[in-house]
Amino acid sequence: MNKLIGITTTIPMEVLFAGGYTPCDLNNLFITDQTPMRYIERAERDGFPKSMCNWVKGIYGVIMEKGIDTVVAVMEGDCSNTLALSEILHYKGIKTIPFSYPYDRDGTVLKREMEKLMMAFSVDEKRLLQVEREIEGVREQLAKIDRMTWDQKVVSGYENHLWLVRASDMLGDYRKYGEIAAAFIDEASTRAPTEGINIGYIGVPPILLDLYPFIESVGGHVVYNETQRQFTLPFFNKDRVERYLLYTYPYDVFSRAEDMKAAIRERRIKGIIHYVQAFCFRIMEDVILRETLGVPVVTIEGDLPRLLDTRTKLRIEAFIEMLMGRIHGKD
Ligand code: SF4
Repeated sequence: MNKLIGITTTIPMEVLFAGGYTPCDLNNLFITDQTPMRYIERAERDGFPKSMCNWVKGIYGVIMEKGIDTVVAVMEGDCSNTLALSEILHYKGIKTIPFSYPYDRDGTVLKREMEKLMMAFSVDEKRLLQVEREIEGVREQLAKIDRMTWDQKVVSGYENHLWLVRASDMLGDYRKYGEIAAAFIDEASTRAPTEGINIGYIGVPPILLDLYPFIESVGGHVVYNETQRQFTLPFFNKDRVERYLLYTYPYDVFSRAEDMKAAIRERRIKGIIHYVQAFCFRIMEDVILRETLGVPVVTIEGDLPRLLDTRTKLRIEAFIEMLMGRIHGKD
């Protein structure tokens, strides 16, 4: 098997594949584990404070417990904690390779960052172009799955979340990921459309384990997963710098809001669930988003990888009931 490289968020993973490495999204490894709490406990045993984002602790725990020795850390454009995390990793003897998305969307700077990454993994242009062409085919499959969620409504919000969020590393094998995506599309095409009021999900992917099934159980159908969709880089026929400049997640909140507004119109979204993570600086963005989207927004917060608490369930249920009431003209 090719050498595993940990990644802390979406990066140009085409470069890693082209260099003969296997990217591994540490977030996905953490949250899909049978017992994700053990990674948080490991981080706290090593001195991480209780009052800190549990995604960061989860990532750290996974690196230490699974013996991952090389990590690409996104210093700018992802998480305000990454710099400190990468210093701890360096101190623990883990190799960290920095990558940054320039806040001002400077294409020259991003191009240089990509070239540094290519150098770090000894990748040549010809091989990279070949891998990019193949990965674009897989991204087209993911765009199809996304469309089947809101247009034909034959893919559930949870399935949409899973397929799109895993695009960050394509489970370490993009060819196989493309094959299983194609098989999924064939199977889902035979389904009857689901019922449910169209809901949009925005914010970082949830740490909560049963959010999607619960939304469905109270009459919602998640037709848009904002960040997860961005992880698929759904921008076709672009060169690599353009593609990663169109990717909204690392940059300002305003381009994210434009992406959300377009989705609200196209996908006929009736209400938005904004997920925020306890102790995450991105909570601040809620101030802007809830005033600019033009549809009702409910903000929910998660902390640990566990099931929804009663209060959050009641809030989601009341929100969806309110949306249904608006549709049926009861308010
Ligand atoms: S949820 Fe926020 S604080 Fe936590 S890892 Fe993600 S960006 Fe960082």
